[in-house]
Amino acid sequence: MNLFTPIMQISPVGRTTASRLKRLGINTVGDLLFYYPFRYDDFSKSCKIDQLQAGDRVNIIGIIETIESKRTWQKRMYIAEAMVSDDTGVVKVIWFNQPYIAKNLKQGDRVSLSGKVDNKNGLFMSSPVYEKLTLRAIHTQGLVPNYHLTANITQKQLRFLIGQIIGLADKIEDWLPYNIKKEYKLIDLGKALAKIHFPKNQTDIDQSKIRLSFNELFLLQLQVQLVKNKLKNCDALAIKFLEKPTKEFVKSLPFKLTDDQRYAAWEILQSIQSDRPTTRLLEGDVGSGKTVVALLALFNTAKNGLQSALMVPTEILAKQHFESISELLKEFDIKIGLLTRSNRLIDNREEITKQKMHEIIEKGEIQIIIGTHALIQEQVIYKNLCLVVIDEQHRFGVGQRRDLVAKAGDKDIMPHLLSMTATPIPRSLALALYDDLDISIIKQMPKDRQKIITQIITEDNRNAIYEFIRNEVKKERQVFVICPLIDWSDKLGVKSVKEEYDKLSQKVFPDLKIGMIHGKLKPKEKNQIMEDFAANKINILVSTSVIEVGIDVPNASVMMIEDADRFGLAQLHQYRGRVGRGKYQSYCFLLSEKKNPRLDAMTVYDNGFDLAKIDLKFRGPGDVYGTLQKGFPELEIASLHDFDLMKQAKQSAKSIVNNLENFPKIKEKLGEWESFTHLE
Ligand code: ADP
Ligand code: MG
Repeated sequence: MNLFTPIMQISPVGRTTASRLKRLGINTVGDLLFYYPFRYDDFSKSCKIDQLQAGDRVNIIGIIETIESKRTWQKRMYIAEAMVSDDTGVVKVIWFNQPYIAKNLKQGDRVSLSGKVDNKNGLFMSSPVYEKLTLRAIHTQGLVPNYHLTANITQKQLRFLIGQIIGLADKIEDWLPYNIKKEYKLIDLGKALAKIHFPKNQTDIDQSKIRLSFNELFLLQLQVQLVKNKLKNCDALAIKFLEKPTKEFVKSLPFKLTDDQRYAAWEILQSIQSDRPTTRLLEGDVGSGKTVVALLALFNTAKNGLQSALMVPTEILAKQHFESISELLKEFDIKIGLLTRSNRLIDNREEITKQKMHEIIEKGEIQIIIGTHALIQEQVIYKNLCLVVIDEQHRFGVGQRRDLVAKAGDKDIMPHLLSMTATPIPRSLALALYDDLDISIIKQMPKDRQKIITQIITEDNRNAIYEFIRNEVKKERQVFVICPLIDWSDKLGVKSVKEEYDKLSQKVFPDLKIGMIHGKLKPKEKNQIMEDFAANKINILVSTSVIEVGIDVPNASVMMIEDADRFGLAQLHQYRGRVGRGKYQSYCFLLSEKKNPRLDAMTVYDNGFDLAKIDLKFRGPGDVYGTLQKGFPELEIASLHDFDLMKQAKQSAKSIVNNLENFPKIKEKLGEWESFTHLE
């Protein structure tokens, strides 16, 4: 057995268990070894039976004197009842609704039990975790690891499996150079792995965590330093700041820029004057007005006679940007194109063929190209692409973002990159935090905005909310209703767009105009519905997540989210950001019967940066953005906020980055990520 042995080959793992483990990302013995626990139960205080006190959570070791199971008929419940003794006394132990217990445990067994002591006509232990003491106890004594699980795998199963292979930890080759380990007092990799799963004490946990976190931060930093070195040797085209036309353009805008918008724009325009490629993140909450800031950069690029591209995650959003940007630029003689899978428009809104679009992009007849993934998927050749703007950065994989940058054509000339988001991905946050990525921040909202009122609503208040909505529509405002599903499903009670659409249009608001939009509609239909909604021909739009990001209809004032507890925090915040984009007081109603800390956070915090941090806490960085952000070292255990460790990792990385050839083991580790030369 070695690290690459498929998990199926460990004796008790069958096909079903293997497929469940797969859902945790565990395919091999190595994956299992590197599957870290996220917390520990402390059962290190083993207790004698005569010391037990009601309310304690303890571990005891004793012999089963008697055990029997019964069924209580009134309550229709299984109860297993045992008497357990040690050299100081006897205590009753009761397990509720675990009918198999009496089959597993027999009179005379020596057992270790961990759980709560209760008192009802005398002390007893209530449904403790149990373990027969034939081998080393791993479930009930000392510091017991807890792992993140999916359905149908238990803590006990996982601990058992890891217990089977933990001996391999010793044989693992440590790839971190001895000098670095010595300098930062890091323990060996094998030891760290063994101790992270089965620590003897808190020090074991602390030391292993530091070592394993260091692994991740060190590789991240090495990668950053490598990319930085590479970028230093690339050229970019300098985009000159053209003051006069820029001022004219700003003057022509239908609103006055906020100070933050001005400052961010100034920073961006300054940096893209460089003849080295720059990477910058524009961070500003939903509705803070990032588009127009980016537009100033697109505008300058065009006026320099160069091309720029704006990539967004959805067709709807691409169309919206195309429309609004065409409108704002209509007096300025700049050619704009829209390129998505189903849409190819040029600035007079004329539809053209794909071939024609590719041709005029290559000839440089279009200066600003707006589009979706089509920008990287199709065989588009740019004449002189020198600025790439990526909107809603968190919705793209790092590979996709890099591919667009790579499109610049000539290998030695790289475009400048500006990415925008309200909820930056953790890696970007880390880079920005440690000065490896330039960041511009818009903190301030345009001044006519009012704070959105957010409330959690239970079923008994549904009708009151419908009344409220009717009133808003009377004032000519508009409403979004979000549902998790498109079609009816037998998943108990989860709302679908089609059902809600039927209900609202036939029963609740037969007199109002209700629209429906979701991903299964044809792009043309979606466009039509969004146009009608933007023109207030639809009062209430029932939608799935297709309108999650970017959609801008300032007249909308109510966002009603059905089954809100089914959505992530970043997502909820994005939905909420669809309202409150104009001068009207706006509302976000979160419908949910279930108590949920994420929903509570929504009512307390209104800022995406805070919510992103809270989301990290709830779910850990790996989960927040799912598989989309694969392609760089996932942080499983390290925290981006561990300044000291990050600093050490950075110093170590810098110390070896220029002679990596001498560290073949590290090169091998990096291999998986090496091709991702992308700093953002
Ligand atoms: P986001 O940062 O979420 O991308 P947008 O760029 O879509 O936000 O801007 C949201 C809305 O605010 C748009 O309707 C835009 O026209 C408007 N807007 C942007 N800047 C200002 C401003 N300084 N004053 C008033 N409205 C603004
Ligand atoms: Mg936006």
